[in-house]
Amino acid sequence: MEIRPDALVLVVDDEQDIRDASERILSRVGYQVQKASRGDEALDILNKKSVDIMLLDLKMPGMDGLEVLERIRKQNTKIQVIVITGYATVETAIEAMKQGAYDFIPKPFEPDQLRIVVNRAWEKIHFIREAEKLELERNRTLSDLDTEKSRIRTIIESFPSGVMVTNPKGRVVLMNPAFKQLLGLDTDVKAGNRIEDYLPDENLCRLIMEISQGKHVDYDDIPDHEFSLGGEKHLLARGQPVLGERKECLGAVLNIVDISAMKLLDQLKSEFVAKVSHELRSPLSTIHEQLALVIKDMVGEDIAQDQHILSRAREKTKGLISLIGDLLDLSRIEEGIICHEPQSLRLEEILENIIDFLRTSAQKMNQSLTLLLPQDELPELTADPIALESVFGNLIANAINYTQEGGEIIVTVDMAGINVRIRVKDNGFGIADKYLDKIFDRFYRVKDDKTRYITGTGLGLPIVKGLLDSMGGLIDVESEPGKGSVFTVLLPIKN
Ligand code: ADP
Repeated sequence: MEIRPDALVLVVDDEQDIRDASERILSRVGYQVQKASRGDEALDILNKKSVDIMLLDLKMPGMDGLEVLERIRKQNTKIQVIVITGYATVETAIEAMKQGAYDFIPKPFEPDQLRIVVNRAWEKIHFIREAEKLELERNRTLSDLDTEKSRIRTIIESFPSGVMVTNPKGRVVLMNPAFKQLLGLDTDVKAGNRIEDYLPDENLCRLIMEISQGKHVDYDDIPDHEFSLGGEKHLLARGQPVLGERKECLGAVLNIVDISAMKLLDQLKSEFVAKVSHELRSPLSTIHEQLALVIKDMVGEDIAQDQHILSRAREKTKGLISLIGDLLDLSRIEEGIICHEPQSLRLEEILENIIDFLRTSAQKMNQSLTLLLPQDELPELTADPIALESVFGNLIANAINYTQEGGEIIVTVDMAGINVRIRVKDNGFGIADKYLDKIFDRFYRVKDDKTRYITGTGLGLPIVKGLLDSMGGLIDVESEPGKGSVFTVLLPIKN
């Protein structure tokens, strides 16, 4: 370590030779030197200047060295005192050391001896200063960390959504005010207990426990969870693991938002759709029937032209009526009232009836429509027949609609484990990969050259999916543009 001796040294000795010799030796190596011949003179200088090292003779007339030492100990403990003493007073020197002097040097001394002992004192000062600097920095870092921690805490506290954090044992370690408010907990409820003590929903508690224990490391696999606190209050919860630097699980963080307003809006929307649809359906059906009568009874010269116009009007009313039917079905599914009457039934019969009903449409397009049943009789299903008619009516009607003239539609039924599997296969227009996810969304229709002019609502498949969900069934689709599509439905025998 390189030390620059730019320290101020005060030499206190009644012997002028010692004072002058010390000044010479020390200023040559870069120290600044001040001199005093008496104790009180030394204290005077100490009051005015910032002295780092003091060479102090113990035996002086008037105030002796020990007294000076005692006085400066009371004022400035950082000054390093080196006692200068004759051989006869070694004991006094030891006494001086006990009183806080740093070192001593016997009289008479060699220049090297003085340099060594003063340098050592300066080194000590240097170390003390470095240590003080480090301590200061450490305190500053600690206080920075503290500020950071309290900043993060403030942010979490002020989140409008509820936040709860658990440790790996599933104990709650933090809850923000929004969390307590959403869960209806008292504001002064403390963290520290098991999750169940704060969350009333069993499934959610189980999920958060699993996340806390590191059983869900893949963020995307963790399902959102909706729960209700009774009444109109609906909450949406999302749990995520808190991972450490080595990806180890440190606990879970649970985020909760209030979705009551959204739920209410959804319900109002469904009610609105249902109401409007009801109001529209009967006048439209009347117009539709009346148009049929007019078309049939028409006589006269421009009859063909008029019939054409009215037939087109009738096509439009038909489209509107089916749209309204679909909207009504959808709102009933959303309210969960469509599958209320499951009964024992034979699927073959239902499929045969639908195919009989749709055969006319297929024949108009010169399409073949075949039902292939398994050799062995199918077990009876427990389901709502109206729902099944809607599912397969929609799928087979789609197969007819989205297949060219002369196409082929085959409906196959077989058993797949505990499920009945029904496949509706066509060799029609097919669906490009990128649309396969979307066709189950409400109002989504693929519009390309082939399908643009086919009328439809985009509600058939969402209805099919909604009904199958409520029956515990599944639907899947495979398709290739230009080759055709297969919609596969799995239905549990009992649900
Ligand atoms: P809609 O038939 O009233 O348009 P759907 O919800 O039943 O509504 O179908 C959504 C879209 O999926 C259709 O517009 C069509 O583009 C596509 N689609 C459905 N079934 C088939 C099929 N068998 N072949 C090709 N495309 C189909």
